[in-house]
Amino acid sequence: MLVVPEDAVAGLLDEDDAFAAVEATFAAMARGEARNFAVVREALGEGRQYGFKSGLDQAGGVLGVKAGGYFPGNAARGIVNHQSTVFLFDPETGIATAMVGGGLLTALRTAAAAAISIDRLARPEAGVLGMVGAGHQAAFQLRAAARVRPFRKVIAWNRDPGRLAALGRVAAELGLPFEAVALERMREAEVIVTITSSPAAALLDAHVAPGTHLACMGTDTRGKQEVEPAILARARVFTDEVAQSVTIGEAQHAVAAGLIAPDDITPVGAVIAGLAEGRRGADEITLFDGTGVGLQDLAVARVAVDRAVARGLAVSVTI
Ligand code: NAD
Repeated sequence: MLVVPEDAVAGLLDEDDAFAAVEATFAAMARGEARNFAVVREALGEGRQYGFKSGLDQAGGVLGVKAGGYFPGNAARGIVNHQSTVFLFDPETGIATAMVGGGLLTALRTAAAAAISIDRLARPEAGVLGMVGAGHQAAFQLRAAARVRPFRKVIAWNRDPGRLAALGRVAAELGLPFEAVALERMREAEVIVTITSSPAAALLDAHVAPGTHLACMGTDTRGKQEVEPAILARARVFTDEVAQSVTIGEAQHAVAAGLIAPDDITPVGAVIAGLAEGRRGADEITLFDGTGVGLQDLAVARVAVDRAVARGLAVSVTI
Protein backbone atom coordinates (compact mmCIF):
# COMPACT_ATOMS: atom_id res chain seq x y z
CA MET A 1 0.00 0.00 0.00
CA LEU A 2 1.25 3.47 -0.89
CA VAL A 3 0.96 6.36 1.54
CA VAL A 4 0.87 9.97 0.31
CA PRO A 5 0.89 12.20 3.39
CA GLU A 6 -1.06 15.45 3.52
CA ASP A 7 2.06 17.61 3.41
CA ALA A 8 3.19 15.99 0.13
CA VAL A 9 -0.08 16.63 -1.72
CA ALA A 10 0.49 20.36 -2.36
CA GLY A 11 3.35 19.78 -4.76
CA LEU A 12 1.60 17.01 -6.65
CA LEU A 13 -1.43 18.65 -8.26
CA ASP A 14 -2.86 22.10 -8.82
CA GLU A 15 -6.20 23.72 -9.69
CA ASP A 16 -5.92 22.76 -13.37
CA ASP A 17 -5.30 19.09 -12.52
CA ALA A 18 -8.30 19.06 -10.16
CA PHE A 19 -10.50 20.77 -12.76
CA ALA A 20 -9.60 18.18 -15.43
CA ALA A 21 -10.01 15.19 -13.10
CA VAL A 22 -13.36 16.34 -11.70
CA GLU A 23 -14.74 17.33 -15.10
CA ALA A 24 -13.89 13.88 -16.53
CA THR A 25 -15.49 12.26 -13.47
CA PHE A 26 -18.74 14.24 -13.76
CA ALA A 27 -18.97 13.25 -17.45
CA ALA A 28 -18.28 9.57 -16.62
CA MET A 29 -21.07 9.69 -14.00
CA ALA A 30 -23.49 11.10 -16.60
CA ARG A 31 -22.56 8.37 -19.08
CA GLY A 32 -23.20 5.71 -16.42
CA GLU A 33 -19.55 4.62 -16.32
CA ALA A 34 -19.01 5.64 -12.71
CA ARG A 35 -21.28 5.67 -9.68
CA ASN A 36 -21.25 7.02 -6.17
CA PHE A 37 -22.37 4.86 -3.30
CA ALA A 38 -24.78 6.08 -0.62
CA VAL A 39 -23.22 8.66 1.68
CA VAL A 40 -22.85 7.87 5.38
CA ARG A 41 -22.92 11.05 7.45
CA GLU A 42 -23.35 11.05 11.21
CA ALA A 43 -23.63 13.87 13.71
CA LEU A 44 -21.24 13.35 16.63
CA GLY A 45 -22.58 16.23 18.72
CA GLU A 46 -21.23 19.76 19.27
CA GLY A 47 -21.45 20.39 15.51
CA ARG A 48 -19.06 17.57 14.63
CA GLN A 49 -19.91 15.61 11.46
CA TYR A 50 -18.23 12.37 10.42
CA GLY A 51 -18.86 10.12 7.44
CA PHE A 52 -17.86 8.26 4.31
CA LYS A 53 -18.15 9.11 0.63
CA SER A 54 -17.30 6.29 -1.75
CA GLY A 55 -17.71 5.08 -5.31
CA LEU A 56 -16.52 3.06 -8.25
CA ASP A 57 -15.26 4.39 -11.58
CA GLN A 58 -15.28 1.22 -13.64
CA ALA A 59 -13.70 2.74 -16.74
CA GLY A 60 -11.06 4.62 -14.74
CA GLY A 61 -10.29 1.58 -12.57
CA VAL A 62 -10.86 3.50 -9.31
CA LEU A 63 -12.61 2.16 -6.20
CA GLY A 64 -12.36 3.86 -2.85
CA VAL A 65 -13.67 5.89 0.04
CA LYS A 66 -13.03 9.20 1.73
CA ALA A 67 -13.45 9.07 5.50
CA GLY A 68 -13.61 12.24 7.49
CA GLY A 69 -15.74 15.18 8.40
CA TYR A 70 -16.14 18.63 9.85
CA PHE A 71 -14.96 19.45 13.35
CA PRO A 72 -15.82 23.10 14.12
CA GLY A 73 -13.79 23.15 17.33
CA ASN A 74 -10.55 22.67 15.40
CA ALA A 75 -10.05 26.31 14.40
CA ALA A 76 -9.60 27.29 18.05
CA ARG A 77 -6.86 24.63 18.26
CA GLY A 78 -5.12 25.99 15.16
CA ILE A 79 -6.25 23.01 13.07
CA VAL A 80 -8.37 23.10 9.90
CA ASN A 81 -12.04 22.22 10.62
CA HIS A 82 -12.19 19.68 7.77
CA GLN A 83 -10.22 16.49 8.35
CA SER A 84 -10.26 13.57 5.91
CA THR A 85 -8.28 10.71 4.39
CA VAL A 86 -8.84 8.96 1.03
CA PHE A 87 -8.36 5.20 0.67
CA LEU A 88 -8.05 3.59 -2.79
CA PHE A 89 -8.58 -0.11 -3.53
CA ASP A 90 -7.93 -2.34 -6.53
CA PRO A 91 -11.43 -2.77 -8.05
CA GLU A 92 -10.67 -6.36 -9.10
CA THR A 93 -9.17 -7.70 -5.87
CA GLY A 94 -10.25 -5.26 -3.16
CA ILE A 95 -6.65 -4.89 -2.02
CA ALA A 96 -5.96 -1.48 -0.48
CA THR A 97 -3.57 0.32 -2.83
CA ALA A 98 -3.21 3.81 -1.37
CA MET A 99 -3.94 6.12 1.56
CA VAL A 100 -3.83 9.83 0.78
CA GLY A 101 -4.22 12.89 3.00
CA GLY A 102 -7.59 14.38 2.01
CA GLY A 103 -7.51 17.97 3.30
CA LEU A 104 -6.05 19.84 0.34
CA LEU A 105 -7.63 17.35 -2.07
CA THR A 106 -11.08 18.19 -0.67
CA ALA A 107 -10.53 21.91 -1.06
CA LEU A 108 -9.20 21.54 -4.62
CA ARG A 109 -11.93 19.15 -5.80
CA THR A 110 -14.71 21.25 -4.23
CA ALA A 111 -13.41 24.45 -5.79
CA ALA A 112 -12.98 22.61 -9.11
CA ALA A 113 -16.66 21.55 -9.05
CA ALA A 114 -17.81 25.15 -8.57
CA ALA A 115 -15.41 26.36 -11.28
CA ILE A 116 -16.71 23.70 -13.69
CA SER A 117 -20.25 24.92 -13.06
CA ILE A 118 -19.19 28.54 -13.66
CA ASP A 119 -17.33 27.55 -16.81
CA ARG A 120 -20.35 25.69 -18.21
CA LEU A 121 -23.27 27.76 -16.90
CA ALA A 122 -22.31 31.38 -16.11
CA ARG A 123 -22.72 34.07 -18.74
CA PRO A 124 -19.47 34.35 -20.72
CA GLU A 125 -19.13 38.07 -19.93
CA ALA A 126 -19.74 37.71 -16.16
CA GLY A 127 -17.47 40.29 -14.55
CA VAL A 128 -18.45 40.58 -10.87
CA LEU A 129 -17.90 37.62 -8.55
CA GLY A 130 -19.83 37.53 -5.28
CA MET A 131 -18.46 35.44 -2.42
CA VAL A 132 -20.74 34.45 0.47
CA GLY A 133 -18.50 32.97 3.15
CA ALA A 134 -14.87 33.52 4.06
CA GLY A 135 -13.78 30.34 5.82
CA HIS A 136 -11.09 27.83 4.87
CA GLN A 137 -12.69 26.76 1.57
CA ALA A 138 -13.46 30.28 0.36
CA ALA A 139 -9.90 31.10 -0.75
CA PHE A 140 -9.77 27.95 -2.88
CA GLN A 141 -13.16 28.79 -4.34
CA LEU A 142 -12.04 32.30 -5.26
CA ARG A 143 -8.82 31.09 -6.92
CA ALA A 144 -10.63 28.39 -8.94
CA ALA A 145 -13.44 30.72 -10.04
CA ALA A 146 -10.92 33.31 -11.23
CA ARG A 147 -9.40 30.73 -13.60
CA VAL A 148 -12.60 30.32 -15.64
CA ARG A 149 -13.86 33.92 -16.03
CA PRO A 150 -11.91 37.18 -16.35
CA PHE A 151 -13.63 38.79 -13.35
CA ARG A 152 -12.98 42.52 -12.89
CA LYS A 153 -14.12 42.70 -9.25
CA VAL A 154 -14.91 40.58 -6.20
CA ILE A 155 -17.59 41.52 -3.67
CA ALA A 156 -17.88 39.46 -0.50
CA TRP A 157 -20.02 38.95 2.58
CA ASN A 158 -19.31 36.92 5.68
CA ARG A 159 -21.33 36.59 8.89
CA ASP A 160 -18.18 37.53 10.78
CA PRO A 161 -16.74 40.43 8.71
CA GLY A 162 -13.37 40.06 10.45
CA ARG A 163 -12.59 37.02 8.28
CA LEU A 164 -13.01 38.96 5.02
CA ALA A 165 -9.54 40.53 5.15
CA ALA A 166 -7.86 37.18 4.45
CA LEU A 167 -10.12 36.64 1.43
CA GLY A 168 -9.31 40.15 0.28
CA ARG A 169 -5.61 39.21 0.29
CA VAL A 170 -6.36 36.29 -2.06
CA ALA A 171 -8.22 38.67 -4.38
CA ALA A 172 -5.21 41.00 -4.28
CA GLU A 173 -2.90 38.10 -5.22
CA LEU A 174 -5.15 37.56 -8.23
CA GLY A 175 -5.04 41.28 -9.08
CA LEU A 176 -8.77 41.73 -8.39
CA PRO A 177 -10.37 44.70 -6.60
CA PHE A 178 -12.20 43.48 -3.47
CA GLU A 179 -15.06 45.02 -1.54
CA ALA A 180 -16.83 43.80 1.61
CA VAL A 181 -20.56 44.34 1.10
CA ALA A 182 -23.98 43.79 2.68
CA LEU A 183 -25.89 40.78 1.31
CA GLU A 184 -28.29 43.11 -0.54
CA ARG A 185 -25.38 44.16 -2.76
CA MET A 186 -25.03 40.58 -4.10
CA ARG A 187 -27.50 41.80 -6.77
CA GLU A 188 -24.42 43.36 -8.40
CA ALA A 189 -22.77 39.94 -8.79
CA GLU A 190 -23.09 37.92 -12.01
CA VAL A 191 -21.63 34.82 -10.35
CA ILE A 192 -22.19 34.04 -6.65
CA VAL A 193 -20.33 31.33 -4.76
CA THR A 194 -21.81 30.38 -1.36
CA ILE A 195 -19.44 28.46 0.90
CA THR A 196 -20.65 28.61 4.50
CA SER A 197 -21.69 26.12 7.15
CA SER A 198 -24.92 28.02 7.74
CA PRO A 199 -27.99 26.23 9.17
CA ALA A 200 -30.43 28.78 7.71
CA ALA A 201 -30.68 30.77 4.48
CA ALA A 202 -28.51 33.88 4.43
CA LEU A 203 -28.77 34.76 0.73
CA LEU A 204 -32.36 35.68 -0.11
CA ASP A 205 -34.23 35.71 -3.40
CA ALA A 206 -34.22 39.52 -3.35
CA HIS A 207 -30.38 39.45 -3.27
CA VAL A 208 -30.05 37.70 -6.66
CA ALA A 209 -30.37 39.48 -10.02
CA PRO A 210 -31.64 37.83 -13.23
CA GLY A 211 -28.90 36.11 -15.25
CA THR A 212 -26.82 35.21 -12.20
CA HIS A 213 -25.06 31.86 -11.85
CA LEU A 214 -24.87 30.56 -8.28
CA ALA A 215 -22.53 27.82 -7.10
CA CYS A 216 -23.93 26.74 -3.73
CA MET A 217 -21.13 24.71 -2.19
CA GLY A 218 -21.55 24.82 1.57
CA THR A 219 -24.59 22.58 2.10
CA ASP A 220 -23.41 18.98 2.20
CA THR A 221 -25.47 17.68 5.15
CA ARG A 222 -29.13 17.44 6.07
CA GLY A 223 -30.10 20.57 7.97
CA LYS A 224 -27.58 22.99 6.45
CA GLN A 225 -28.94 25.78 4.27
CA GLU A 226 -27.36 28.76 2.53
CA VAL A 227 -29.98 30.25 0.20
CA GLU A 228 -33.71 30.92 0.20
CA PRO A 229 -35.57 28.06 -1.56
CA ALA A 230 -37.41 30.63 -3.72
CA ILE A 231 -34.12 31.11 -5.60
CA LEU A 232 -34.16 27.43 -6.63
CA ALA A 233 -37.81 27.78 -7.66
CA ARG A 234 -36.96 30.46 -10.24
CA ALA A 235 -33.58 29.01 -11.27
CA ARG A 236 -32.57 26.10 -13.47
CA VAL A 237 -30.94 23.79 -10.95
CA PHE A 238 -27.87 21.68 -11.67
CA THR A 239 -25.90 19.42 -9.37
CA ASP A 240 -23.11 16.89 -9.15
CA GLU A 241 -25.44 14.03 -8.04
CA VAL A 242 -29.22 14.34 -7.89
CA ALA A 243 -29.62 11.74 -5.11
CA GLN A 244 -27.32 13.81 -2.86
CA SER A 245 -28.74 17.16 -3.95
CA VAL A 246 -32.27 16.30 -2.76
CA THR A 247 -31.17 14.71 0.53
CA ILE A 248 -28.04 16.51 1.79
CA GLY A 249 -27.60 19.36 -0.72
CA GLU A 250 -29.11 22.82 -0.96
CA ALA A 251 -32.07 21.43 -2.96
CA GLN A 252 -33.26 19.41 0.08
CA HIS A 253 -35.21 22.47 1.26
CA ALA A 254 -36.84 23.43 -2.06
CA VAL A 255 -37.82 19.79 -2.67
CA ALA A 256 -39.24 19.41 0.85
CA ALA A 257 -41.26 22.59 0.35
CA GLY A 258 -42.63 21.24 -2.94
CA LEU A 259 -41.09 24.13 -4.91
CA ILE A 260 -39.08 21.84 -7.20
CA ALA A 261 -39.01 18.09 -7.89
CA PRO A 262 -35.93 15.86 -8.22
CA ASP A 263 -36.67 15.60 -11.97
CA ASP A 264 -36.15 19.37 -12.27
CA ILE A 265 -32.46 18.95 -11.34
CA THR A 266 -29.86 18.29 -14.06
CA PRO A 267 -26.47 16.67 -13.38
CA VAL A 268 -23.78 19.06 -14.61
CA GLY A 269 -22.01 15.97 -16.00
CA ALA A 270 -24.84 15.65 -18.53
CA VAL A 271 -24.04 19.17 -19.77
CA ILE A 272 -20.33 18.30 -19.98
CA ALA A 273 -21.10 15.04 -21.84
CA GLY A 274 -23.39 16.85 -24.29
CA LEU A 275 -26.48 15.04 -22.98
CA ALA A 276 -28.28 18.09 -21.54
CA GLU A 277 -28.58 21.77 -22.28
CA GLY A 278 -26.74 24.32 -20.15
CA ARG A 279 -27.73 28.00 -19.89
CA ARG A 280 -30.61 28.87 -22.25
CA GLY A 281 -30.59 32.65 -22.06
CA ALA A 282 -28.91 35.73 -20.60
CA ASP A 283 -31.66 36.35 -18.01
CA GLU A 284 -31.87 32.79 -16.76
CA ILE A 285 -30.67 32.11 -13.22
CA THR A 286 -28.59 28.93 -13.06
CA LEU A 287 -27.75 27.31 -9.73
CA PHE A 288 -25.26 24.53 -9.14
CA ASP A 289 -25.90 22.54 -5.96
CA GLY A 290 -22.42 21.18 -5.22
CA THR A 291 -22.84 18.46 -2.60
CA GLY A 292 -19.42 16.82 -3.01
CA VAL A 293 -19.32 13.25 -4.31
CA GLY A 294 -16.96 10.43 -3.42
CA LEU A 295 -15.86 10.00 -7.03
CA GLN A 296 -14.46 13.55 -6.99
CA ASP A 297 -12.24 12.59 -4.06
CA LEU A 298 -11.10 9.38 -5.70
CA ALA A 299 -10.31 11.17 -8.98
CA VAL A 300 -7.98 13.73 -7.41
CA ALA A 301 -6.47 11.15 -5.04
CA ARG A 302 -5.63 9.00 -8.05
CA VAL A 303 -3.78 11.91 -9.69
CA ALA A 304 -1.87 12.55 -6.45
CA VAL A 305 -0.84 8.89 -6.13
CA ASP A 306 0.26 8.59 -9.77
CA ARG A 307 2.38 11.76 -9.47
CA ALA A 308 3.83 10.68 -6.11
CA VAL A 309 4.88 7.34 -7.60
CA ALA A 310 6.42 9.02 -10.65
CA ARG A 311 8.45 11.36 -8.39
CA GLY A 312 9.42 8.72 -5.82
CA LEU A 313 7.46 10.49 -3.06
CA ALA A 314 4.99 7.71 -2.16
CA VAL A 315 5.86 5.71 0.96
CA SER A 316 5.24 1.96 0.57
CA VAL A 317 3.91 0.04 3.61
CA THR A 318 2.69 -3.51 4.05
CA ILE A 319 -0.64 -3.97 5.78
P1 NAD B 1 -14.99 27.06 7.93
O1 NAD B 1 -15.40 26.56 9.27
O2 NAD B 1 -13.56 27.37 7.69
O3 NAD B 1 -15.86 28.37 7.59
C1 NAD B 1 -17.25 28.39 7.84
C2 NAD B 1 -17.88 29.53 7.07
O4 NAD B 1 -19.29 29.51 7.31
C3 NAD B 1 -17.41 30.92 7.53
O5 NAD B 1 -17.46 31.80 6.43
C4 NAD B 1 -18.48 31.30 8.57
O6 NAD B 1 -18.57 32.70 8.75
C5 NAD B 1 -19.71 30.77 7.87
N1 NAD B 1 -20.83 30.55 8.79
C6 NAD B 1 -20.83 29.75 9.88
N2 NAD B 1 -22.07 29.79 10.46
C7 NAD B 1 -22.82 30.63 9.71
C8 NAD B 1 -24.17 31.09 9.80
N3 NAD B 1 -24.98 30.69 10.78
N4 NAD B 1 -24.61 31.93 8.83
C9 NAD B 1 -23.82 32.33 7.83
N5 NAD B 1 -22.52 31.94 7.70
C10 NAD B 1 -22.04 31.10 8.64
O7 NAD B 1 -15.56 26.00 6.90
P2 NAD B 1 -15.06 25.69 5.42
O8 NAD B 1 -14.02 24.63 5.46
O9 NAD B 1 -14.78 26.96 4.69
O10 NAD B 1 -16.37 24.97 4.82
C11 NAD B 1 -17.52 25.75 4.56
C12 NAD B 1 -18.69 24.82 4.28
O11 NAD B 1 -18.43 24.09 3.08
C13 NAD B 1 -18.96 23.77 5.36
O12 NAD B 1 -20.35 23.68 5.56
C14 NAD B 1 -18.43 22.49 4.76
O13 NAD B 1 -19.05 21.34 5.26
C15 NAD B 1 -18.76 22.73 3.30
N6 NAD B 1 -17.99 21.92 2.34
C16 NAD B 1 -18.66 21.42 1.27
C17 NAD B 1 -17.98 20.65 0.34
C18 NAD B 1 -18.71 20.14 -0.86
O14 NAD B 1 -18.16 19.32 -1.61
N7 NAD B 1 -19.89 20.62 -1.14
C19 NAD B 1 -16.63 20.40 0.51
C20 NAD B 1 -15.95 20.96 1.58
C21 NAD B 1 -16.65 21.75 2.49
